[in-house]
Parts: sequence; structure tokens; C-alpha cells
Amino acid sequence: MKAVDYDLVIIGGGPAGLTAAIYAARARLKVVILEKSAPGGQILVTDWIENYPGFPEGLAGADLVEKMTAQARRFGAEIEINQVISLDVAGKIKRLTLNDRVITAKAVIIGTGASPRKLGVSGEEAFYGKGISTCATCDAPFFRNSVVAAVGGGDTAVQESLFLTRFAKKVYLIHRRDQLRATRILQERASENDKIEIIWDSVVTSVNGSDAGVQGITVKNVKTGEAKDLAVDGCFIWVGVLPNTAFLKDAVALDPGGFVVVNSKMETSVPGVYAAGDVRNTPLRQVATAVGDSAIAAFEAAAYIEAME
Ligand code: NAP
Repeated sequence: MKAVDYDLVIIGGGPAGLTAAIYAARARLKVVILEKSAPGGQILVTDWIENYPGFPEGLAGADLVEKMTAQARRFGAEIEINQVISLDVAGKIKRLTLNDRVITAKAVIIGTGASPRKLGVSGEEAFYGKGISTCATCDAPFFRNSVVAAVGGGDTAVQESLFLTRFAKKVYLIHRRDQLRATRILQERASENDKIEIIWDSVVTSVNGSDAGVQGITVKNVKTGEAKDLAVDGCFIWVGVLPNTAFLKDAVALDPGGFVVVNSKMETSVPGVYAAGDVRNTPLRQVATAVGDSAIAAFEAAAYIEAME
């Protein structure tokens, strides 16, 4: 077969991509991770991870990334900061167009993860980065002794609200239902935390402020229709995630939400192309599930490449 640049290209350097690289490098594949910013993905902005086995006290997201990156490099995986603009995977040789060149590979693993979803309310765009944030680890220190709002009821909203209480004097947690989606242990911690006030059955209808930044939000109770203004200095939005799949265009099948469709071997609709972690159609988006997916994807990719040769 014609010489190709890599046996395997992994797109995305979060826990999924890093794990796939560890397995692929140990299978002695020539493998590169392409990451558009810095390895780590969403866990880089995760303050503390306490449900990843092997770390009974928990560990910082950044520390876990560092360990996974060192482990991938130790076995010979390359990590390159570059962005995949598009890919042509229909043939046996996969062609990936990057910022500066085109590379070829025998197989591809998509591990591009997901990004925070926006609310789509008035003031959201205008105050993004000026009081609105999706990253508590990055921005919580700006809100020392302040009053902030956190929107959402999932693991992210509750866990990060708890983190915010280390800085803010009060956190309004605004959830659209009367029960949180977050795992029970996080629910218990939120209800025991005096700094957190949960505003149930409510949605944010606008983020309000001036040139100085966010000054308040308007919330509406979805059961009574009653609207009220809350004075806050910042607003953190954690209402779920959207897949980072725009660059794939029609390269592989996506589900209606835009997540990559895979089978139990992490095979996409295209032979030689796999997907793992948050970017795929999965019921649970965790480091542990991304790691499991990627071990399977890399194992299957290695078998696919061996069968090709
Ligand atoms: P998620 O689990 O999808 O929860 C999103 C939350 O936002 C839900 O409570 C949802 O309300 C609410 N929501 C969605 N759209 C909304 C809208 N337009 N307006 C108001 N509220 C809205 O997302 P996530 O919390 O970001 O978590 C993503 C994944 O990462 C999950 O699999 C989660 O388990 C995982 N994660 C795990 C941990 C951990 O294990 N400690 C930490 C962070 C994230 P409803 O409940 O009414 O649908």
C-alpha cells in the first residue's frame, strides 16, 4: 500500500484522545494526536475529579491531563497542536486537511468532545466574558464576596456551584425543574451548603447589565409565570453540551443532536473511522467512559490496520 504519514490519527486531546494514544502507541502504531488548543479538553476546566477510580482523594483535572499526556508520550505518541479543517475518509487512505498541510492515515479516531451549550437569551452574547462564564476554575476568583447565578441542574452546574461557594458569598442555582439531574452526592452537598439557594422551576429570560458588566438576571417561574429580577455580579451557564462535530460535515453519520453514531466497537458509519468519549452518542459523559470507549476504539483500529496490511 502507498506510504501514509500515520497509521492512526486521533482528533482531539482530551481523556478520550490521550487514552486512545496510549493504547495505539503500545500496539506500536505510528500515532499522532491533533489538538487545536491544549491537551485536556473539558477536564482542564474541571476543578476536582473525584469519581475517576484510583484516586481516592480525587485530583485536579489539570493534574490528570498531565499524567495522561506523559503516559501517551512515554509510549511514543506524538501530540501536535493543529486543527483539522476537514477530512476525506471515504477511501482506504484517510486524508485530513489541517491548518497548514494535508496528512494521510490508515485509520482515524474522533475524540473531539463537546462544548458548553448556550441559553440563547437576551444579554447572553453581549456579556460573554464580561460577567458570563462557563468556567468556574477560570473565573470564580473574580467573584470573591460577590453574588452569582449558576444555571442548570446537572453534574456540571451543581459541582461547579459548590466550587463557586469558595469565592462567592452567595450562589443562586437556577434550575428549570423541581428536581436536580445531578448525581445524589452532589445534590446532598448543594442542599447542605448555606451559600447555595436553589431557585426551582425557573428559567433565565435575560442577563442584564451595563458597560461595567453583568448586574442582574431576570428569571421566570415556569409553573406560575411569575418573573423577577435577581441582582448578581456574574452568571455561570451550565446547561449541557453540544458535540464538536461541525468540521465532520457529512464524513460520518451523526445522530439528530449532532453526536457521532457508533456501534459497540466504536466504529462509525465509515470503515477505519472510530469515535470515542463525549463526541459520540453515549448515555454518560465521564472521564471513565471516555477512557473505556477509547481503549476499545484503539484496539479495533489496530486490528483494522493489521487486516489491511
Ligand atoms: P447535563 O447532564 O446534560 O445537564 C444539563 C442541565 O441543564 C440539566 O439539568 C438540564 O435540565 C439543564 N438545561 C438544559 N437546557 C436548558 C435550558 N435551555 N435552560 C435551562 N436549563 C437547561 O449536562 P452537564 O451537567 O454539563 O453534564 C454533561 C455530562 O458530563 C453528563 O454526562 C455528566 O454526568 C458529566 N459530568 C459529570 C461530572 C461528575 O461526574 N462529577 C461533572 C461534570 C459533568 P433538565 O434536568 O430539566 O434536563
